[in-house]
Amino acid sequence: MQDQTVQNRRSVLRQQSPLEETTSIGLASGSDSSATTASAIELKHGADLAHHELPDLRAALDDLPTGIVVLNAEMRAQFINRAFRKMWRLPDAKADGKPAFVSLMYYGRDTRAYDVPENKLDAYVAERVAQVKSGDRAPRDLRLSSGEVLRFQCAPLPNGGRMLSYTYVTDIVRHADELETLRIALDNVQEGVMLLDAGLTVLFMNRAARRLWRVGDATVDRHPHYAELLNSTQTRPNGAIPRDKLDALIAQRIAAVRSGDPTPTDVPFADGRSIRWQCTVLPGGGRMLTYSDVSDLVQSAADLQRFATTDGMTELYNRRHFLELAEAEWQRCQRSARPPSLLIFDIDQFKFINDTLGHDAGDRALIHIANLVRESRRPSDILARIGGDEFVLLLPETTTEQAGAIAERLREKVAQSRPSDLDDALHITVSIGAATATMSMAGIERLIKHADEALYAAKAAGRNCVKFAMPEPESGERHAAE
Ligand code: GH3
Ligand code: MG
Repeated sequence: MQDQTVQNRRSVLRQQSPLEETTSIGLASGSDSSATTASAIELKHGADLAHHELPDLRAALDDLPTGIVVLNAEMRAQFINRAFRKMWRLPDAKADGKPAFVSLMYYGRDTRAYDVPENKLDAYVAERVAQVKSGDRAPRDLRLSSGEVLRFQCAPLPNGGRMLSYTYVTDIVRHADELETLRIALDNVQEGVMLLDAGLTVLFMNRAARRLWRVGDATVDRHPHYAELLNSTQTRPNGAIPRDKLDALIAQRIAAVRSGDPTPTDVPFADGRSIRWQCTVLPGGGRMLTYSDVSDLVQSAADLQRFATTDGMTELYNRRHFLELAEAEWQRCQRSARPPSLLIFDIDQFKFINDTLGHDAGDRALIHIANLVRESRRPSDILARIGGDEFVLLLPETTTEQAGAIAERLREKVAQSRPSDLDDALHITVSIGAATATMSMAGIERLIKHADEALYAAKAAGRNCVKFAMPEPESGERHAAE
């Protein structure tokens, strides 16, 4: 009967309201004539307030962009505001006829307002009705066939009725949909993506990032701090970083992320992978960290570097790379005023080896020489194969006397060696040309040229010997070793 009281109250109000003729006003007009004296008396109490304020309230509710429906305890609409009528295209005649909530739902179904498949419509209507009857306050987003989305909420009223509200949330839901789409997309990219807020709290990690960091969903959902993540992953037994260096590393990483430095950094992992990570500053002050597995790239780059710098057969440096390294060494020696020496050595009668034993045997002879010299050189010496059977050895900070001794030892070693997989009768020898730089020598190329001339002299002198270049002083140059 509580509901009837409300109706009666409205009935009384109706007689007094200047707005009652305004059909666009949504408050259902109570034509209930069964008001008892008791309820009329009871109404007296609230009538003063209602008399002055309810028309305003009705007008205000009609002006709201939110759709409002007030149901009585029997789930019949007592009031339907203008926004609701508009959003559901509900004619006034129907809205003002105190329709049951279920018939409002049927109206939506029959006008194909719901974005629900045909075969699920009845279940959908039943579910909505059950929700309203139960007074479930949980908001629901209703998708309309127009593409709009309404957030629906049901609030139980003290009189057993319900107040239903419908708010357009199309934009919000569209953003949420877009975010969800982005999340799914990010979960399907190979790169790891981590989003941090301005305080470096983890907001999001895509699937690849979780895998890379070996963290579970529960950890990410808990939104840990970036430092916690660094700490927990790096201290694992197979972490790449020893415990003693960990604090410094964490501090360094955090500083890098805070600074927003976008320079990509490659981190070698204990399992052999190389991970490149990069930091991007986001508009809100947060950070996006991306991680990509660049193991293949790093490997390819290392391979490329090797191909570009070494001779495939002997695995010594090639001529081009030798010149680069020698140039750097040249500059260094110039500064220290301790000049280098250089040996060029060439296998004697190598064509003969090729011709009599075959090209493969020739190759093995080249490898044999390369290995011999590699083993006997000093760590700072730079060794390269610069031609067919021609090698070079740059000896930093080495005087003519020292270079002479080194060259002689080398010649001797080669002459006495017996390549295990070559003909026992074969005696490989080398001729060596040597030269020492001078302070005013124009560059490394000049030193090579002098050593080359000395090599020519060694060949001319009968091979298997060492000859030193005696360069003529170049425009006022003096011997650096002096
Ligand atoms: P010399 O004592 O005057 O140096 O005589 P040589 O026969 O060694 O003459 P030279 O140094 O001019 O000949 C180099 C030969 O090395 C010519 C070429 O056929 C051979 N050669 C160059 N590259 C390779 C290689 O990669 N493998 C083999 N097996 N032979 C090579
Ligand atoms: Mg030769």
